[in-house]
Amino acid sequence: MSIDSPSTSRSAALFERAQQSIPGGVNSPVRAFRAVGGTPRFIARAEGPYMWDADGQKYIDYIGSWGPMILGHGHPAVLEAVLKAAHDGFSFGAPTEREIELAEEIIRHVPSIEQVRLVSSGTEAAMSAIRLARGATGRSKLIKFEGCYHGHADALLVKAGSGLATFGHPTSAGVPPEVVQHTLVLGYNDIEQLEAAFAQHGPELACVMIEPIAGNMNFVRASVPFVKRLRELCSQHGALLVFDEVMTGFRVALGGAQQVYARALPGFRPDISVFGKVIGGGMPLAAFGTSRQIMQQLAPLGPVYQAGTLSGNPVATACGLATLREIAKPGFHEALAATTRSLIDGLSTAAHEAGVPFAADSEGGMFGFFFGSELPQNYPAVLATDKERFNRFFHGMLERGVYLAPALYEAGFVSAAHSPADIAATVQAARGALRAA
Ligand SMILES: *Cc1c(COP(=O)(O)O)cnc(C)c1O
Repeated sequence: MSIDSPSTSRSAALFERAQQSIPGGVNSPVRAFRAVGGTPRFIARAEGPYMWDADGQKYIDYIGSWGPMILGHGHPAVLEAVLKAAHDGFSFGAPTEREIELAEEIIRHVPSIEQVRLVSSGTEAAMSAIRLARGATGRSKLIKFEGCYHGHADALLVKAGSGLATFGHPTSAGVPPEVVQHTLVLGYNDIEQLEAAFAQHGPELACVMIEPIAGNMNFVRASVPFVKRLRELCSQHGALLVFDEVMTGFRVALGGAQQVYARALPGFRPDISVFGKVIGGGMPLAAFGTSRQIMQQLAPLGPVYQAGTLSGNPVATACGLATLREIAKPGFHEALAATTRSLIDGLSTAAHEAGVPFAADSEGGMFGFFFGSELPQNYPAVLATDKERFNRFFHGMLERGVYLAPALYEAGFVSAAHSPADIAATVQAARGALRAA
């Protein structure tokens, strides 16, 4: 059986052609299927929980554009808002009322923030949050964690150095070592290392940036004791705690991962929050926010420069606002969490029946699964799970019409459009794929 057995001839031809004009044939590397092999599917259209590729194959979509499509594709209220906004004009380079409405909507659901600035990508939001943290504290150094992704700004493309005393090395060509010399990379969920890093560098640390539930090394939660200690250390040393909620924001709960941690740690708040993905509902839109006092460090009020030609774009804000209004309806996240839970329960049962070691977890509409007997707590543990089996399973599912993330290192996403029948069909596909995997 070839890994591409349903017809992929049109996708294959498009991929061939794309590689002539676009490096690697894609505009974002993971789309090229390099981690799993085979032909990336060129998508022709999508509706609800489904996507159709250029060869007419239908898939149940568990990527949802890597998170934004929390309502499924083409939700009527969102579509209507976008069409109306488009008629009124694509972009003005001047302020609009809808930007205020979206800012107010975000602030209403996230108690830790008093003001937000809208930008166009998660990368931009994370990069700007770091600049703001450095500007507000007058410090240069920052901590990030192995396996967390915060977009591709230079200072954040870093891997751990050889020891705690050394700062990181660039993970990309084109990033000079001097640019990452202030970035310290620590092990996720490693309290001892965190304490040692603060003991050594505390007074120089501008911020600590973390994916509180990491979705860029599959799905790994920061433990509650780790988050608790992180909060204490940041407060003690005057470093700002930055929650990168580009993936988790409005997805794991209406108030994001910070709301999930506040259940275990009453009163818990990060200092700065970064959003993207869901807040744009599929359009290029992201944001960062914190207290009014810190936000007033930004231009035009303060000395920290930040700007964007398309920031707060009228069509994107219409899309984001309509999305947030739908997901703020009572019971939305409870229902989404139950659907997601039913998916991972079904997959776990199927794996158990097939005698395949399997561990899975979810929060709200985000999930992860691993071919291994326990849930990994950090990046090395993710790497130690069975990648070959994951890749076989991925292709087995794709052939059976289920579109999972094409890499072991990515989380999965369920939308409100996924019905019990879609979940049942997915679990049925998994039974077949697991037998072959
Ligand atoms: C997707 C993502 C980013 C980057 O967002 P882009 O819009 O792709 O630039 C940053 N942080 C996290 C946690 C993400 O998941």
